[in-house]
Amino acid sequence: MEKILSDKNIDELRHLLAGDVIVPADSEYDKARRGFNALIDRHPAVIARCVRAEDVAVAFDYARSHKLEVAVRGGGHNPAGHCVCDGGLVIDLSRMRTVEVDAEERIARSDGGATWLDFDSATQTHGLVTPGGVVVSTGVAGLSLGGGIGHLTAQYGLTCDHIIRAEVVTPDGKAIHANADENPDLLWGLRGGGGNFGVVTRLEFRLHPLREVMGGRLIYRGAGVRDALLCYRDVVGRSPRDLSCQVSLAIDESLVPILEIDPCYTGSDADPEALRRLRSTPGLIQDEVRKLRFLDQQRVIDTAYGEKRHYWKGHFVRELPDELLDELLHRIVALGRPPGGIMIESLHGAPKDWDVHPGAVGFRRAAFNVSVMAVWQDPALDAEQIAWAREGAAAIEPWSYSGGGYVNYMQADEPIERVRATFGNQTFDRLQKLKHRYDPHNILHRNQNIPPF
Ligand SMILES: Cc1cc2nc3c(=O)[nH]c(=O)nc-3n(C[C@H](O)[C@H](O)[C@H](O)COP(=O)(O)OP(=O)(O)OC[C@H]3O[C@@H](n4cnc5c(N)ncnc54)[C@H](O)[C@@H]3O)c2cc1C
Repeated sequence: MEKILSDKNIDELRHLLAGDVIVPADSEYDKARRGFNALIDRHPAVIARCVRAEDVAVAFDYARSHKLEVAVRGGGHNPAGHCVCDGGLVIDLSRMRTVEVDAEERIARSDGGATWLDFDSATQTHGLVTPGGVVVSTGVAGLSLGGGIGHLTAQYGLTCDHIIRAEVVTPDGKAIHANADENPDLLWGLRGGGGNFGVVTRLEFRLHPLREVMGGRLIYRGAGVRDALLCYRDVVGRSPRDLSCQVSLAIDESLVPILEIDPCYTGSDADPEALRRLRSTPGLIQDEVRKLRFLDQQRVIDTAYGEKRHYWKGHFVRELPDELLDELLHRIVALGRPPGGIMIESLHGAPKDWDVHPGAVGFRRAAFNVSVMAVWQDPALDAEQIAWAREGAAAIEPWSYSGGGYVNYMQADEPIERVRATFGNQTFDRLQKLKHRYDPHNILHRNQNIPPF
């Protein structure tokens, strides 16, 4: 790779940064530049591993004076690979992971690079939670800024609904606060508008008391999968407030459909009717549903970091009619080889509680989020797998809620019209004005971008 910065330039940054500076010659460079999605293989000129807000300001300043593109890295999970750029500077927050809990006030203060493992471990010490993501290595800030759907969505709502305060370094190097009194419009934008406005060095969340759930997984195979999908739809269609539930459709090595249902029940019933119904559906081959500590529930879904290639595309939908479920079953068989799958996340319950939306997030009124997720290892399969995901998403489109998808799962090739559709015209226009105020030169464009207006 061509050397973009001289040793003298790099020393200058090393001198200013309290954290670490990583360049291509360093042994840890390869690990530090890689994200979750092996499809993305980029080589930044320099990685500024920050340890405090001042470092973030230094990194912005350095990028500006050396005309370097900027990428921001939290947990590194974004499937679009937004956390890394070729030849530019990465603001890497992976050393800023402290999570402080004020148990009395039920508030958590989470540094900009914390993962859900950091967060849940700290809050569960006090028997408290915020609804977060289902894979613990995902970044708290990255996930929250895009909305946040997980095991406790029906009970408590979206992750971004729980953000009450943020500390942000804007691309001009200013450290500002956003809360109900200070920059409330920025707080609104951070609740769903992504990493468009600045680098969030700290987020404060509301917490709820919760230690145990009834969770785990149910696996169905073969002819019973269709019935299990219909049962799932009916169960969540009743909007049980104490049951969040997502499902993943896949095929096994013999190309037979497999369905995994991941329920998370927090009610007081020892044998809840909704779970009884799911468990009594024919086709069930594995029942791992049981009482779990919340931290163990957060381990039910796990996936290797940086090993596989991913291409995801999907839609929020208004409903899940039989015809759409049959289409999804047809598409999963057409995939022709594992892994890869189709995920359905229900948005019933608490996300719908707000009359006036507290944030920019635009999907809370949709019924489900349906994502076609191609996952593979061999680069020779790139075109085939990407085509499968795109065709699957196109097949779902007739049931789409708004034409938009989930910004947290989008690839980098989504057109701006689809990002706009995700938010709706009015919200997108408001986000563009906000972007103009905080990042008029669109320095932070490696995201599902909201160009300044
Ligand atoms: C295995 C896996 C599981 C997932 N599970 C869920 C889930 O359960 N629920 C859900 O809603 N989503 C989930 N996601 C999607 C995930 O929330 C988004 O991809 C999110 O962007 C990841 O954040 P990150 O910090 O890990 O990623 P990164 O790639 O590090 O960051 C992605 C982008 O987020 C922004 N960003 C991150 N941190 C900051 C910060 N501190 N300040 C400003 N901007 C920042 C930047 O624009 C950055 O480029 C999952 C993704 C994967 C790969």
